[in-house]
Amino acid sequence: MDTLSPELEKARLERDEILKRYRALLRALGPLPREKKKLIREAFDVALEAHRGTYRKSGEPYIFHPLAVAHIAAHELGLGPSSVACALMHDVVEDSDVTLDDIELRFGPKIARIINGLTKISAVHFESGSSVQAENFRKMLLTISDDLRVILVKLCDRLHNMRTLESVPRSTQLKIASETLFLYAPLAHRLGLNAIKTELEDLSIKYTESERFDEIVQKLAANKAQRSRYIREFIEPLDEKLRAAGLKVHEIKGRPKSIFSILQKMKKQGIPFEQVYDLFAIRIIIDSEQQKEKEDCWRAFSIITDIYKTQGDRLRDWLTTPKANGYEALHTTVLGPKAKWVEVQIRSKRMEDIAERGLAAHWRYKATSSHQHTPQDATFDNWLNRVKDMLENRDLSALEFLDDFKFNLLSEEIYVFTPKGDIRNLPVNSTALDFGFEIHSDIGAKCIGAKVNSKLVPISHPLKNGDVVEIITSQKQRVNEGWLEFVITGKAKSKIRNWLKEEKRKSAEEGKDILARKFRNVKVQFNEQMANRVMRYFERSSLLDLYYDIAIGKIAKDHIQVSRILAPREEQPTAGEEIAVSGSKPSRDYVPRKNEEIIVGDDHELNYTLSKCCNPIPGDPIFGFVTIGEGVKIHRVNCPNAVSLMSNYGYRIIKAEWKSKFNFDKAFLAGLRITGIDDVGIVSRTTDIISKELKVNMKSISFGSNAGTFEGTILLYTHDTTHLNDLISKLEKIGKHITVTRIEVE
Ligand code: MN
Repeated sequence: MDTLSPELEKARLERDEILKRYRALLRALGPLPREKKKLIREAFDVALEAHRGTYRKSGEPYIFHPLAVAHIAAHELGLGPSSVACALMHDVVEDSDVTLDDIELRFGPKIARIINGLTKISAVHFESGSSVQAENFRKMLLTISDDLRVILVKLCDRLHNMRTLESVPRSTQLKIASETLFLYAPLAHRLGLNAIKTELEDLSIKYTESERFDEIVQKLAANKAQRSRYIREFIEPLDEKLRAAGLKVHEIKGRPKSIFSILQKMKKQGIPFEQVYDLFAIRIIIDSEQQKEKEDCWRAFSIITDIYKTQGDRLRDWLTTPKANGYEALHTTVLGPKAKWVEVQIRSKRMEDIAERGLAAHWRYKATSSHQHTPQDATFDNWLNRVKDMLENRDLSALEFLDDFKFNLLSEEIYVFTPKGDIRNLPVNSTALDFGFEIHSDIGAKCIGAKVNSKLVPISHPLKNGDVVEIITSQKQRVNEGWLEFVITGKAKSKIRNWLKEEKRKSAEEGKDILARKFRNVKVQFNEQMANRVMRYFERSSLLDLYYDIAIGKIAKDHIQVSRILAPREEQPTAGEEIAVSGSKPSRDYVPRKNEEIIVGDDHELNYTLSKCCNPIPGDPIFGFVTIGEGVKIHRVNCPNAVSLMSNYGYRIIKAEWKSKFNFDKAFLAGLRITGIDDVGIVSRTTDIISKELKVNMKSISFGSNAGTFEGTILLYTHDTTHLNDLISKLEKIGKHITVTRIEVE
């Protein structure tokens, strides 16, 4: 044994480690019947063989990844052997010669279907215009009607990729992290997988907003001891009284808020870390039988309010009506020791499990307890039905679908009634028209108004929980594009779009006739190839658009001069992609900057422009986005549009870096918000600092005061982030309680 060559020794260590991890997986699964054990073993063998000799970016054998995903599935989500087998084999079809047919032959159609849902569509099947990411996401969701396990395993996969994101290149980190924030965290939220959602969010901002992430981590660590002391002090009288009242307290703990939600709060309210007062919540978990759990929670609530004063309007009752993702609990805010407001969450052990582990836990409870219909059944079913509705609408492009879907992931729900008393649930902010389409697509299409609680309202009227809604229709009504601006539900949107497309298709026929006549007049044969040339000439993205615009006169008949159109000219960029680039048209005054401050990709010569949506300044973390017709645009990594760009068009992201030495004569526009206690002379002191002391040019400045506080907005020219941060810290010293934050430049 001790004469093994280094290579063999390495292989032996690797094999031992793989087996060790495999055994850990079996332990996480717990005792299994013999045929399930065999299933896991076979899946493991297939994966091991398929990934043999391949390694991850980190240098580890590839098989570590599927093993880890399977372990997350078993241990953190509590999924069963079939899902775990799929987790083991989730990358097999994509990365090896094993085909779906092979899988079906060995493991049956059910597992093959799940694996199919998990297998990414290869990028080569796409034209550059469509989003591979969006298509993949849709493909995964298409299996939702068959099997939710696809999504659950996919989330495990994503979680492990996020946990190991350290070892991939920066541009990939940004792409994956943004995608996660944009799609997977909301999806986890919708499925009630709180622990996973929180971890995905925190891991995402670790890469997209590294500096602020580190800052929060540091500050949280710094006041940890103080926080723990406070939590102990808060809990002490509570614990005693709850037990004295005969409640079985499973656990009382102080739960720190996630880094992501702290950062959200700082951004939303424009406040520094120190001013986020609810850094933690107290969670009380009670052991209770399912029949008595609500009652027990309310009893706990009343005991708490005996000890601490509540903030009257801050009771959130998700016991009576659970959230759309199945969340049940009682939340209240009370005045704790040292006059601090503290959020308290009360729930049973079962509710806690469902809140943390979501759907999977819910099914487990359902399987083990009685057969009663739980509120979660209805909400999940409802949501699934809505997703299915969207999926059935094949006309929707993948990106439109994604928009609708994402909206539905995030929205909470309201319950409204038909005049007959049937209950329907809709996303918050749904309008009367949404309700119409919810009832029937013809009713929506003919809707001219509604009676809400017997009062006449317009179709755009937003509905509230408990409203009774009666739709008024007219045969004369016609669907119009303006409706898309206020409807909320995917169902209404897709039905309206379909109507419009149908109308458009009809008009387009006329446009095509007009064009064909033009060709006949000059005796040139009109065919599809010709039509495409006209399309390119007028920079339309489809023949439908071309014909339609001719029909409605947007392309004037006089402008259709066949001879000119057919004259040889330079290749035009296709117009299709313009829409994809954050909706902007190529501007005529676009002047590329060449090789000045930024290196794009590895190419020192690549042209770029600084994007107007976030105005990067030297020192900001940045990335490049390849547009069509406008070269590369440079965005800040925390640009408001970045997450959507990176997740939808990941393949067009290109890394970009500031050169270490840049031209200091150049100045960049940046915005600051300054708030504080109103004080005589504060405005002049601010402007003094900016213009005199630091020799900065201001573009604009505005100040307003309100009940003893003031707020100012300053747009100024700066050289880089060091310069700007210097300015911020100087400004913060001009008076007490002054806060200065960087803001987006409009
Ligand atoms: Mn994977």
